Amino acid sequence: MAINKIPLMAGAVAEKWAKESLVPKPTAFGTVFRYSGALGCTRRAAYDWFEAEYTEKPTPGRVVQAGVGTIFGEAQANAQIEKFGGRAEVPSQLNEFLSGSADWFGWLDEYEGFVVYENKLKSSFAFNMAVGVQRNFGKAKRIEPKGAPIEALVQAGMNALGIELTYALLPVNHIIVGVVTTEVLSVGMAESIDADDYEIFCVEETFTREEFEPLVKSEIDRLAIAYDVITMGNLPPRWVADTSLVEAHGVFDGFHNKEIEPEGSNWQCGYCPYRSLCVQDGSGYVRITESALIRRKTETEE
Ligand code: SF4
Repeated sequence: MAINKIPLMAGAVAEKWAKESLVPKPTAFGTVFRYSGALGCTRRAAYDWFEAEYTEKPTPGRVVQAGVGTIFGEAQANAQIEKFGGRAEVPSQLNEFLSGSADWFGWLDEYEGFVVYENKLKSSFAFNMAVGVQRNFGKAKRIEPKGAPIEALVQAGMNALGIELTYALLPVNHIIVGVVTTEVLSVGMAESIDADDYEIFCVEETFTREEFEPLVKSEIDRLAIAYDVITMGNLPPRWVADTSLVEAHGVFDGFHNKEIEPEGSNWQCGYCPYRSLCVQDGSGYVRITESALIRRKTETEE
């Protein structure tokens, strides 16, 4: 028996998906920002916009994680369409710089109106935080649930307001964010906290327009500043939205920019395909002509 240090067969899907993920997908309406980047790094969005070549190759594990998320999301949307009608991947545009697609959109009698559903497949840690479970050395205990991630709430809210604008529909007054995991709690752990059949793999939260609209408007204001910086030929600083106050205390006073450090431990940079480039370019505003970026080749140039 020998364990293959580099898998011959088992890594095939990761290699295939990795090749397909080397170029970022264009935004729904060719805008600088996408809803799915809500609260995220404006410098990263600028690198996408200026078509920078990735400096980090995705690791096989991350590729598989993202690919499984896509497949699960499609299956979820198809099942929702079968059960409720509606449509999947509904594109919309909120303004000159922001567009995206809703995972599911349709009418729900339960809310007597149109609803946007956003699906988030999460690792066990992120899921446990959302549902309020702590796993520790094979044991589980209940903790305060954090609910849906705030960036998913804002993303879904952008879809709701964007669909209203793009299709001139009646108001979309409710959004639902579902957090799902495939790393389901074991039978023993589930029994130890008396978990029901659903909460070992999914939790969902509904937000009203009063709850999501102020957050979406504040994020649009934040992105508008970065948009001006980018369209004047600069990379913006490494800005992300500071969510600490609202996440820790539920107090929302607008999304303000906070600068992050690519060599620090923040999660955004851990997943960023431009990390080395960003380090090389340095902090603050950078003229695009002074950036070290290499423009990625388009298919016709290859
Ligand atoms: S490395 Fe971090 S700061 Fe730099 S572009 Fe990526 S996410 Fe933004």
